[in-house]
Formats: sequence, C-alpha cells, structure tokens
Amino acid sequence: MDTSERELILSRKLGKANAEARRILEAALEDGYVTNNEWDAIAQAYREAITIELEGTFYQAGLSAIEALGVSVDSTALHQQAIEWARQYGYELVSKLDQTNRQLLQQSISDYFSQNLSLKDLTERIGTAFNPVRAEMIAVTETTRANVQGELAYSAELQALGVNTVSVWNTANDEIASGCPICGPNNQKVQGDGWEIPPPAHPRCRCWVSTEIRPRK
Ligand SMILES: [Zn+2]
Repeated sequence: MDTSERELILSRKLGKANAEARRILEAALEDGYVTNNEWDAIAQAYREAITIELEGTFYQAGLSAIEALGVSVDSTALHQQAIEWARQYGYELVSKLDQTNRQLLQQSISDYFSQNLSLKDLTERIGTAFNPVRAEMIAVTETTRANVQGELAYSAELQALGVNTVSVWNTANDEIASGCPICGPNNQKVQGDGWEIPPPAHPRCRCWVSTEIRPRK
C-alpha cells in the first residue's frame, strides 16, 4: 500500500467518525444538551479511526526504510514502537481535535438552546466542524507524520547497532513546485543542519525523510 492509499483510507475512516459525531450531536440536540459522555463517544469514534491507521503507516514506513537502505533491523522492535507511538500520539491528536470541536460548537449549541440560533444554522456549523475537507487535511498531515516517525525509528534502531545515520529532508514535489517557504529551504538537508523538527511542517505537508549511512567519525 502506498502513501496516497493510506491517506485515502484514513480520510474515509475520519469521514465515518465525522458522520458518527454528527449523529451523536444531532441526537443530543433533542435532549437539550450535550453530555460529557456524548463528547467522549465522539472522541472514541475518532480514536478508533485513527490509532490503527497510524500504527500501520509507521510500521510500513519502517519496513520500507529497511528495504530502501538494505540494512535490516529487528522488525519486532519497529512494530512495538509503532504500537506505542500510535497509541500515544493518537490519543493526543484526538484530544486536540476534540477540544477544537468542543470550542467551536459549545457556544453554537448553547446559542441554539437559548434560541439565538436556528436549527438550520446550528446544523450548518456542525457540518463545518466535521467536514470532509478537514478530514482529508488531517489524513494527509497525519499520514506524513506516521511515515516520518517510522523512518526515524528505523534510523534510531541502526544507531543503536552502532551505524552512523543521518536523516535527510525530502521536500514533496508539489511543495517544490509551489515554492513552499517552510519546506522548500529544507530540501536535501540533514537533520541538525538546517532543520530540527521533522515533517509535517504545516497542514497538508507531504514531505518525507530518508535515512543515509555516513562513515563513522
Ligand atoms: Zn512540507
């Protein structure tokens, strides 16, 4: 499975979580308020959509990195790291999304209940908070992140074996073409020499990192 397929799958899963979120919110509107349990159910739908995909992307990136460089490491260790990273990061990401959505909607929902907002307007705002464009954006950005983290985990495994590796930034072709001011200057530069924090550098960043072996100093 290549990166664009992984983006598509994650995007679809996020779309399903969006539908679930809208369903829960619309049902909550009939009760008159959104309970913490309902917000938690929404977060759970996202967690289920995201975690397993991030794990798979991370692990696959590690395996592809082995193939690209031709130096093997313990793939069980990579898998273990994929599981741990996806669990932890997935949790952080969902908490962040959840917070954004709550902030975005809490006021609208209370406006609706105090009759300052029509149901039509509220439904529109819910649709905006959980819209497919946003789902696709998150899918692209987070697939990039999982890919890069898998590559960096491979590099770290090599270093643990005493191999001197460097991580090289590869600016995505579309960002070179559009002259991305954030990622363009990082192209082909080594971590620690021009950049520190790995991609994604911005929403929809599709840059990647590759591992190169350098002679030991
Ligand atoms: Zn980029």
